[in-house]
Amino acid sequence: MKKQLNVSAIKQGTVIDHIPSTALFKVISILKLDHCKDMVTFGNNLDSKVMDGKAIIKVENRFFKDKEINKIALVAPHAKLNTIKDYEVVGKYVVEIPDEIQDIARCFNPKCITNHENIDTYFEVISKSPVALKCRYCEKITHQDQMEIK
Ligand SMILES: [Zn+2]
Repeated sequence: MKKQLNVSAIKQGTVIDHIPSTALFKVISILKLDHCKDMVTFGNNLDSKVMDGKAIIKVENRFFKDKEINKIALVAPHAKLNTIKDYEVVGKYVVEIPDEIQDIARCFNPKCITNHENIDTYFEVISKSPVALKCRYCEKITHQDQMEIK
């Protein structure tokens, strides 16, 4: 019954685990959970053997799309998603940073054309841990701590 205790808060939806505590509110804002009408519960600064302080989010009735999962990966590269149906874990996966990132992050360079004109940003991922993104337009590198998600 231990499994049920961990996930019984939601009947169906998604549990996002292994989020660094420092990234919890970023993930909430990226996924627009602050405007979500379904039940959202989260815990922060939980004890973890593998992390310095982790957070977990449970979202009822939501199953995230690839684009949203890629966004999570940018701020929580080791997050794990469990999809739940009828209180059972039916899918488990670890987020993965793609090799190229289109439109989901901002270029940190204030002079970059993408910050002045209405065009999608486009980055090559040159490092995945920590994340570093090279802008196709200005060639400047945006690092994890400068990352702003669109
Ligand atoms: Zn740029």
